[in-house]
Amino acid sequence: LKKQLVDISQVIDTSIDLLSYKLDLYGITVVREKQPGGISVEADPGLIKEVFVNLIVNACEAMEEGGRIKIAETIIVTGKMGKAVVINVIDNGPGIPEEMQERILKPFETSKADGTGLGLFVAARTIEEHGGSLEFTSAVGQGTTFTITLPVYQQEA
Ligand code: ADP
Ligand code: MG
Repeated sequence: LKKQLVDISQVIDTSIDLLSYKLDLYGITVVREKQPGGISVEADPGLIKEVFVNLIVNACEAMEEGGRIKIAETIIVTGKMGKAVVINVIDNGPGIPEEMQERILKPFETSKADGTGLGLFVAARTIEEHGGSLEFTSAVGQGTTFTITLPVYQQEA
């Protein structure tokens, strides 16, 4: 874990750019909403980028016939973390059946013939190692929302 000060909005933009070919190929539109000025987080940029790439790839693989992914971050103030950034990755794909939802964060749980089932397991661990959390909600026929919360870097007074 090589932490440095990174602009999380920029890391998200980079992840989207890296996948532009795949997004085009699948006919997926990305709707991007972000705060002006960027948001500073102490993080390993490579590992955090991997988390967003994983979430976007999962959404693509769930929506091979096209769809929409909205990625938006906002700042909140929490009791536990203080100032935090909440990032939502929202797709309008098929959703995750309820009986599967409790398993998808565990290792080797995949619904894909060639899946590893490690993506979300590693993503959740990476976010936890950064003092944050990864959660999701999903409804069959409506879509899936992954929510990442990370502490915002705050200079000591
Ligand atoms: P893999 O992608 O190798 O299957 P992941 O840990 O990344 O492993 O995901 C686990 C499972 O969670 C996937 O196989 C899929 O069934 C489900 N999943 C993850 N993201 C989504 C999504 N956005 N929409 C629908 N299902 C999803
Ligand atoms: Mg995956």
